[in-house]
Amino acid sequence: MLATPSTPVALLRASPLPSLEARILLTHVLGWRPTQLITRGDEPMDEADVERFRTLEARRVAGEPVAQLVGAREFFGLDFDVTPDVLIPRPETELLVETALSAMDGLSRPRLLDLGTGTGAIAVAIASMRPDARVWALDRSTQALAVATRNAARLLDAKRPGGAVTLMQSDWYASLDATLRFEVIVSNPPYIASGDPHLAEGDLRFEPRGALTDEADGLSAIREIVAGAPTRLVPKGVLWIEHGYDQSAAVRELLVAQGFTQVRSERDLAGIERISGGVWAAGNS
Ligand code: GLN
Repeated sequence: MLATPSTPVALLRASPLPSLEARILLTHVLGWRPTQLITRGDEPMDEADVERFRTLEARRVAGEPVAQLVGAREFFGLDFDVTPDVLIPRPETELLVETALSAMDGLSRPRLLDLGTGTGAIAVAIASMRPDARVWALDRSTQALAVATRNAARLLDAKRPGGAVTLMQSDWYASLDATLRFEVIVSNPPYIASGDPHLAEGDLRFEPRGALTDEADGLSAIREIVAGAPTRLVPKGVLWIEHGYDQSAAVRELLVAQGFTQVRSERDLAGIERISGGVWAAGNS
């Protein structure tokens, strides 16, 4: 007797994965939109597609992040390429984008610097919302820069008035032209302390360690970013940094000690103080 051919519906029903994850892997394999799983869910599938799905499913069961398996993650309504060389964009980071966009309200052709850009998600999302903004995106990792370069080229209008995003290999500010000044500096730096058990759990096991931890107390990258910002910001320029759920008071303290004013934190959708920032007022030094 011939085996019944597998259908998308049957594979989803039999999958040990959470339904959403199984659906993402299956639409990836089939090249379908999510709604097609409903309209075409009973069609027999090619054996090769079934095999590809089962392979991805097994890798997911073994822990690999969905975003790496399909090579993509949506962030701020844009579809970013993702590889194992970059941090997977997180929904809570959209708060950093929104806050930077508010800070740019009323400014014409603002200059924005994104430190440790990874996928380029923050810089590209801001650049897409503010076509006039001039955007610099830096990363220490050349592999990450290759991913960010692809994302910027694919997701941004080549003729945007602010020009192409300037992508540069740099250890924080080190390679930046010393005369450049910015209205806004943002960063989602590695902020997990080296001994944090989360590094050995979930998706984090598969993401680049250098994007997650500073190999110290979790605040060393943030200290460097805060210390270097005053000489890079215009008067009244702002700095906003993403940090861990329990780091907001420490980061505000660093900002105040550096001489920033209007220092405050903003809460993410889970109610956690997720980003902190301040204004570099004219005249303080
Ligand atoms: N948000 C990530 C996490 O805790 C960490 C990213 C980072 O260190 N910037 O899963």
